[in-house]
Amino acid sequence: MISHDVVIIGSGLAGMRAALEAADKGADVAIVAKSYPVRAHSVEAQGGIAASLARVEEDNWEDHMFDTVKGADYLADQDAVETLVKQAPEAIIELENLGTLFSRLEDGKINQRPFGGHSNVRSCFTSDKTGHALEHSLFEQVMKAGVDVYDEWFVTRLIVENGTCKGIVAYDMQKGEIEALKAKSIIFCTGGYGRVYGITSNDLQNNGDGISMAMQAGVPLEDMEFVQFHPTGLYPRGTLITEGARGEGGHLLNDEGERFAKKYAPDMMELAPRDILARAIETEIREGRGIDGGDYVHLDLTHLGEEKIKERLPLIRELAIDSAGVDPIEGPIPVRPTAHYSMGGIYIDNNCSTPVDGLFAAGECSCVSVHGANRLGTNSLLECVIFGRKAGETAAEYAKNASMPQLSSKEYIEEERDKMENLMNGEGGEEINELEEELQNTMRDKVYIFRNESDLKSALDKIIEIKERFENVQIKDQSMTFNTAYTGAMELESLINVGWAITKNALARKESRGSHYRTDYDERNDEDWLKHSLTRFENGELNIDYENVTITKYEPKKREY
Ligand SMILES: Cc1cc2nc3c(=O)[nH]c(=O)nc-3n(C[C@H](O)[C@H](O)[C@H](O)COP(=O)(O)OP(=O)(O)OC[C@H]3O[C@@H](n4cnc5c(N)ncnc54)[C@H](O)[C@@H]3O)c2cc1C
Repeated sequence: MISHDVVIIGSGLAGMRAALEAADKGADVAIVAKSYPVRAHSVEAQGGIAASLARVEEDNWEDHMFDTVKGADYLADQDAVETLVKQAPEAIIELENLGTLFSRLEDGKINQRPFGGHSNVRSCFTSDKTGHALEHSLFEQVMKAGVDVYDEWFVTRLIVENGTCKGIVAYDMQKGEIEALKAKSIIFCTGGYGRVYGITSNDLQNNGDGISMAMQAGVPLEDMEFVQFHPTGLYPRGTLITEGARGEGGHLLNDEGERFAKKYAPDMMELAPRDILARAIETEIREGRGIDGGDYVHLDLTHLGEEKIKERLPLIRELAIDSAGVDPIEGPIPVRPTAHYSMGGIYIDNNCSTPVDGLFAAGECSCVSVHGANRLGTNSLLECVIFGRKAGETAAEYAKNASMPQLSSKEYIEEERDKMENLMNGEGGEEINELEEELQNTMRDKVYIFRNESDLKSALDKIIEIKERFENVQIKDQSMTFNTAYTGAMELESLINVGWAITKNALARKESRGSHYRTDYDERNDEDWLKHSLTRFENGELNIDYENVTITKYEPKKREY
C-alpha cells in the first residue's frame, strides 16, 4: 500500500501551502487531488489577499482585526483572528519571495486596493487574477520541494479506526482502480461547497466532499448554517464579478438608476460587507426595482474609464463580454447574488488539529473560525496561507512522533468496489442530474439569503427524501476509467450531506447574524446565540451542540456601516 508521512487532500492554496511547510519540516509529503493540481478553485480567486502592509495608506493589524471581527458579526474566535492578521504582512513578503508577482505602485512597492468591510486599503493583488499568480508560484515551490502528487485521484472515504485517522480510499480515474493510501498525518484542504446552490461562483469541483467525508467519519462540523452569498454574480449563471470592481470604484444601480447601497450602508455604500449588500440587492429585486422589473441589478464601471478597466480588471471585462455580451467600458454589467463561500466546515483548533488523532484541516473546508458569520473579501486567501502553513507544521510535527498506522485496506477497497458496482448495476432508476437539480432548487428556494421556519422545515423534509432516493441512483457508464457518472454520484452524496447540515443548523439558529438571516427572528440575539454550532453525525442522525465564542479584545456591538 502506498504510504507517506503526511498526505494532503486538495491542491488549492491551503493544500499547496501546507505541503510546502510539511516538506520544509522534513516530512515525506504527498498531495492527492481530483483534478490537475493548478485547476483547484483557488486559481480563480480574483480580487486579492489582505494584509495591513500600509503601502497606500496608514494601517495596522489591530484595525484589520477589528474589521474582521465586526464583519464576522462577532462570531469569529478572536484569538484565531489575531493570529491571522498579525502574520499577514510577513506572509505577503514571504509569498513574494516564493515567486508571486503582485501588481505594483509607480515606486515599485506592492499596490493595494480597497475591499468591502475593510476600513483601510488592504488588498494586495495581481490585477484580477490573484489566485492564478499565487497557485502557480506555490506549485513551482511544491515541485521543487519534491512533494509527490497523485492527480485525478478522487478521494471517496476517510479511514478512521478507534479515534485515529489512518488513511483514505480513492478512485484513480486514469487507471480505473480503487486504491487505499495510508499516512501518519492527513490534512484535508478540500475547499468549499458552493455547488449545493445551482447559482454559484464556485468551480464544478466544489461539492463539499471533504466536509461530507469528515462528517461521515464522525468529525464534528462547525457553524454550517453560515453560507456567504456574494453580491455580484454575473447574471444569470452567477460567475463571480470580483468585489475588486467595487474596490476600484464601481457603482450598484437599480432600475431607477439609484445607487441604492446608500439606503443599506450609508457610510461604506458599495464597500459594505457582502451579507449586507447581498440582502440589499435581493430586497431591491423583490420590491420590483430590479432592471426592467427583473431579477438582477446593474454594476456600473463605465465611469472608471477604459485604461483603468483594462489594467485592473481585464478578467472581469473578458467574462462580461463573453458571458453577458456587455463590455464594461461601454455599459453596466447585469449582476445578482451568487453562492460563494462556506464560513463553516470541519472543526479544528488553532493548530489545525481536528478531534481525531492524525487528522488536520485548513482552508475553506475547515472552520478555525476567523470568518464567523460573514467573511470579509480577501481574508480567505490569507486564511489559506496562514493556516495552511500552520496545518503543514502541525501535521509534520505529529508525524515525527507517530508510527505508520497498521491498516488492512482490503475490506475498505472491497466495500468501495461494491458501492461502485451497485451504482452501475442498480435498478432504482434515480438519475444523478435530476436529484442534484431538486436539491439545488430546494436550497435556492428555501435555504437562501432570507430564511424562515416553514421554508427550512419543508427543505429539511425534502433533503431527507432526496437522501433516501439517492440509495436508488443508477449510473449508465460501465467503464472503469474516467467514470464521471461515478464521481458525479459521489459528489451528489457530498452535496446532500452538506445541504442537510446547512439546513438543520439554519432551522436551529433562531436569530439573524451575518449571512444567516431569519425573517421570523430578524435581530441578532447575543444572549442566546453568541455561540458556535457543532454538528455531529451519530447513528444516522445529525446532532447539534454549541460552543462558546472566544472573545479577547472586542465585545459585541451593533454593526453599522
Ligand atoms: C471565483 C472566486 C473568486 C475568489 N476570489 C477571492 C479573492 O480574491 N480573495 C480571497 O481571499 N478569496 C477569494 N475567493 C475564495 C478563495 O479563493 C477560496 O476560499 C480559497 O481559494 C479556497 O482554497 P482551498 O485551498 O481551501 O480550496 P480549493 O482551492 O477549492 O481546492 C480544493 C482542492 O480539493 C480537491 N478536492 C476536493 N474534493 C476532493 C476529493 N473528493 N478527492 C480529491 N481531491 C478533492 C480539489 O481537486 C482541489 O484541489 C474566491 C472564490 C471564488 C470561487
